Amino acid sequence: MTSEKKQNVVIVGGGAGGLILANSLARREEFSVTLINDTPYHYYLPQLLQIAFRGDDSQLKRELADLVKKDVKLIIDSVTSVDLNNRTVTTSSGKTFSYDIVAIAPGLSIDHAAVKGNEKLVSLYGDFHSTPENAWRAFNTISSMKKGRLVVAVADPGHRCPPSPYEGVLLADEAFRARGIRDQIEITIAVPYPRAYPAETFNEVIEPVLKERGINIETFFTVDTVDLDNKKMTSLEGGELPFDAAIVVPIHKGPKINILPEDIKNEDGFIKADKLTNRVGNFDDAFAIGDASAASNARTGVTAHLQAKVVEKRLLGFDARNTGRTNCPTEIGMELGTFVISDFGHPSVKLPPKSVFFIMKRFFADTYWDVLKHPEFWDPIFDAYFENTSPERLWKLFP
Ligand SMILES: Cc1cc2nc3c(=O)[nH]c(=O)nc-3n(C[C@H](O)[C@H](O)[C@H](O)COP(=O)(O)OP(=O)(O)OC[C@H]3O[C@@H](n4cnc5c(N)ncnc54)[C@H](O)[C@@H]3O)c2cc1C
Repeated sequence: MTSEKKQNVVIVGGGAGGLILANSLARREEFSVTLINDTPYHYYLPQLLQIAFRGDDSQLKRELADLVKKDVKLIIDSVTSVDLNNRTVTTSSGKTFSYDIVAIAPGLSIDHAAVKGNEKLVSLYGDFHSTPENAWRAFNTISSMKKGRLVVAVADPGHRCPPSPYEGVLLADEAFRARGIRDQIEITIAVPYPRAYPAETFNEVIEPVLKERGINIETFFTVDTVDLDNKKMTSLEGGELPFDAAIVVPIHKGPKINILPEDIKNEDGFIKADKLTNRVGNFDDAFAIGDASAASNARTGVTAHLQAKVVEKRLLGFDARNTGRTNCPTEIGMELGTFVISDFGHPSVKLPPKSVFFIMKRFFADTYWDVLKHPEFWDPIFDAYFENTSPERLWKLFP
């Protein structure tokens, strides 16, 4: 095939979704692939939890140049706009790239200011959903706390990685136990839902664990304001929670990229895309994958990965569709874990906490960089894994 006939694919964002797509397409001669990322690094966001509660940043980031296949044209530049009608992508350095196909995968943006008082709060106590700097602040909070009330409050039900706030409080519990001060500290998780975890079936798994570890559960609490001077937060439902230290899982918004036509983004700035095909609006040549998409049923790396594989297959002419499969390894402290596994047709499976699931979480983290770089090796392994751990199958094993 001559280079003139290659489809010119431009991918915006080299995170969990964009990088997999770039490396998957680059090994096929039908495509020429340009990947544009605003930093020279790829960040492994689950490591923010490990920083915040264990002070471990060993897996945080790698140079993108080491992760892309040689046929990917990597551009380090910030995309400012994507014009879907004129098929162009423009960057902050003034370059314009035209495309045959565009995949938009720049993740999301965090809006600390959307909760009154949270900017001040995060600058003091940190969080584990925004930046490594804030995760280190959270680590200082956890490791310097000796007594009092720690509150972790979820402001946005659409936050990245649904089980991550629960992992947060359980890892805090573990850290305080390790320092022998657990009985001096009251831990509360505050959530907007009627129960600890939004999905009823997974709640049956996680709520008993929270209770067993002595973690308070404050339901129907959607954080509205944080009053740092008086050390209390209020909720939209009219509740009030005092704290000595607090972390708010902040409001998530769509990517800060101008996308035309303007109505292609929803009111929170996420890109309107089809939940089955990832196609943006009525554009046959534009896809949105990962956290940036309004269609992501769960904002997870696995979702982004699977969406990227669907886009790859569609570009190869197959009628591939997302199944909505989630696969969130969930660490619950004490070297135990579980998984949030569901799809469009099945609610989260009730996987009981086991050490093997903790080991599997570590395995996924350890293989992460290789998975990004070598999809041709890992695709068949994941296909077999997803088939054998399908929600349909697991529901029969764990009714
Ligand atoms: C604490 C925590 C724990 C998590 N745990 C898990 C887990 O266990 N399992 C799991 O599957 N998921 C987990 N996730 C979620 C997962 O990390 C995200 O869902 C995933 O990274 C989304 O991938 P993405 O490609 O959409 O976006 P990202 O990975 O955020 O990548 C977006 C990329 O686009 C780049 N970019 C942004 N703006 C621009 C621009 N204007 N121009 C060019 N480039 C740009 C960014 O630099 C970045 O490289 C966790 C997240 C957090 C915060």
